[in-house]
Amino acid sequence: MKRAVAPHLGTIKMRLTCPFCGERDHQEFTYRGDASAKRPAIENDSIEDHRAYVFDRANPDGDHRELWNHTSGCRMHVVVTRNTTTHKVTGCEPVGPWAKTMKARS
Ligand SMILES: [Zn+2]
Repeated sequence: MKRAVAPHLGTIKMRLTCPFCGERDHQEFTYRGDASAKRPAIENDSIEDHRAYVFDRANPDGDHRELWNHTSGCRMHVVVTRNTTTHKVTGCEPVGPWAKTMKARS
């Protein structure tokens, strides 16, 4: 399986605020791909739907929801909302079972 490639940031210093660890340099994180891609249901036997899920990606200009893993920290996945033009981060949310728990606390 091909790994997702981190967005090219060059010399840009991007800070991500992990919901569990706080603000960190983006180099502590690993880019995991488009967070808006929806996996087809397992009962869906359309090879085209599964192919599109694996290979077809939008290349938006503007805000984009991305899945990142805090590999040098808590190792949790987070959804980062990042502007693909300016690299400005406007959101960093937990995913999985922690998401509901943390939203209930805030
Ligand atoms: Zn973390």
